[in-house]
Amino acid sequence: MMPYLTTSYGNADSRYALGRSAASAVLSARDEVRSVIGAGGNVYFTSCGSEANSWALKGVCAANFGKKNTIVLSAIEHPSLLRAAEDMAVFGFETVLVNPDSSGIVRPQFIQKAIEGRQVAFVGVMRANNETGVIQPAEEIHKVCRDAGVFYFCDCVQAAGAMPFPADLAEGISISAHKFYGPKGVGALWLKKGARIQRLVSGGQQESGLRGGTSNVAGIVGMGCALKAACRDMPANNQKIAAVRNAFVKKVLGGVSGAFLVGDDKNRLPSNANIAFPSCRGEQIMIKLDMRGVAVSTGSACSSGASKPSKVLLAMGLEESVAASCVRFSFGAENTEEEALFAAEEVISAAREVAAEGRI
Ligand code: PLP
Repeated sequence: MMPYLTTSYGNADSRYALGRSAASAVLSARDEVRSVIGAGGNVYFTSCGSEANSWALKGVCAANFGKKNTIVLSAIEHPSLLRAAEDMAVFGFETVLVNPDSSGIVRPQFIQKAIEGRQVAFVGVMRANNETGVIQPAEEIHKVCRDAGVFYFCDCVQAAGAMPFPADLAEGISISAHKFYGPKGVGALWLKKGARIQRLVSGGQQESGLRGGTSNVAGIVGMGCALKAACRDMPANNQKIAAVRNAFVKKVLGGVSGAFLVGDDKNRLPSNANIAFPSCRGEQIMIKLDMRGVAVSTGSACSSGASKPSKVLLAMGLEESVAASCVRFSFGAENTEEEALFAAEEVISAAREVAAEGRI
């Protein structure tokens, strides 16, 4: 990225030499991303995964305006799709939300049922969930959609870098560079050739005239390199990350009575462990861990000062109190088993402290 932030700081749309060199770097990155996701599609660079998701949903629905009026989404999609669908209500689009089963998997037959008898413009079911790490049967869901002649979109933001892209996975796919060790603030929308979508940003001819605006050359170059490296290192990284994660989970589950892993334990990303601590609030554990130098997340959303349990976990059928007890642990390629075991010890002591203090 450095040359494009310093010596080669040309605008990719300018005709002079510096501009041409930037344009050629963007072109190479586009080819790189396309060769990873699929040669049968076009790649449009965006500012993040949320933008790619929202654009896909709104743009595809707008292209179907007056012909199809239904959006089908799994209830565990990222808010960038769920909120985008809500925004489309003013244009007469109805949204059908499909819950996963208790293991966190959205079954293809649930999607089939939701499509039947409706004029569906867009189906969105992600490749792997960001809160539970549970991998979805995207290829089978695509088959259901293809048979019904419906556009299928697969949010691959969590999965990219951890799972390969099989041929013909979906009509639309989103990725975001920071999820595979690329820079923050750059993403991409891949669309199968022939897919119809409305323009996102009116302006210049960037991104084939569909998203005007000066290109983030350094970010795009960084994303291309990072995706290539992530694919190269995927088997080794996945094996290493899963081993570190498994050691952590084993120790935590053995050390905190009543704690259990949430979601399907086989079909999940190697990097994720979502653990319920039924006698605690996840947030209390998170705060104690932060003070001990261990960074974790809860799936809860804070609104007007009060936090609500994760909608993903509620959609899986977890009781509110159990959903509110969950903590999401994520592991990366640079985490060691020693760090994971240290973190596990801190989790065990934090959970015991919270349980002893009593729930708030
Ligand atoms: N989709 C999923 C599944 C995600 O996990 C995220 C971010 O965590 C996004 C979309 C949004 O990506 P970004 O943060 O690049 O906007």
